[in-house]
Amino acid sequence: MKKFVCGVDLGGTKINTGIMDVDGNILCNVKIPTEADKGPQHVINNIKISIIESLNKLNIDVSQIEGIGIGAPGPLNADRGVVECPPNLPGWIDIPLVDILKRDFDTEIKLNNDANAAALAEYLFGAGQGINNIVYMTVSTGIGGGAIIDGKLYNGANSNAAEIGHHTINFDGPRWCNCGNPGCLESYASGTSLVKFAKKHIESGRDTILKDKPSGELKAEDIFDAAKSGDKLALELIENEAFYLGIGIVNIMAFYNPEIIIIGGGLSSQWDVLYDKMMKTVDERALKPNRQICKVVKAKLGGNVGLIGAASLVL
Ligand SMILES: [Zn+2]
Repeated sequence: MKKFVCGVDLGGTKINTGIMDVDGNILCNVKIPTEADKGPQHVINNIKISIIESLNKLNIDVSQIEGIGIGAPGPLNADRGVVECPPNLPGWIDIPLVDILKRDFDTEIKLNNDANAAALAEYLFGAGQGINNIVYMTVSTGIGGGAIIDGKLYNGANSNAAEIGHHTINFDGPRWCNCGNPGCLESYASGTSLVKFAKKHIESGRDTILKDKPSGELKAEDIFDAAKSGDKLALELIENEAFYLGIGIVNIMAFYNPEIIIIGGGLSSQWDVLYDKMMKTVDERALKPNRQICKVVKAKLGGNVGLIGAASLVL
């Protein structure tokens, strides 16, 4: 095995590419805008530029890396190396990204869903080290997930396993998630949904300091701030947020029977506010043996989890 691997964390707004050593240390990285609105060809060119710049930064060439791992938004097919139709990459329909990049980079190239890659990163280098049954959940604007089962990343039949954000927690719920499933976990517990619930209450005339913020600027963190200053609506919304997350965790425990559930993403920065409330629901509702064996912890790898995960795909 060579000493270095390259990772590409392809997001809707930015591409974070870097070189990692086999111990999970990022040695250098390059962040550039994705410019998704300019279409697939332009974005692919940006990916190539970011790979070349990363190699140059470390003064190495492609023959010195073990391979390139790409974490991309789903849906995608990891086995075929094809990005299928991610909502935040407009114009991407069945793009054979791995084959395209192989024309320029003579090395092993692997593609996987960004949340799957993050799960792998936490397993190899983060909160899940040495644990063989793991579910990783990222809670930010959306909710994504990845599962390690018996020490292996579980992709499912066509790479869409562990889409825990889109499992139903209320079959009669709001229809505002892109997945089309009313009442999926993401439509209740994501940062975006937290804001949507707040706006609904503001529109219906609830008294809250949140209404001082222009509607387009309201963010999940504003709601957490308002709760800290005692705002009644914000406190209620946070209570609900923790409850919905708890329900999601109860289901994950039943589906996967993991030894650990690792929670990352933007909302995990509110861990101290959410944890006890969330676990109250878990303790009340989860299957007892599944609850007893399972810890619920905050992710260990910070902002570079996507990059570390992408690079880990070729380890
Ligand atoms: Zn959904």
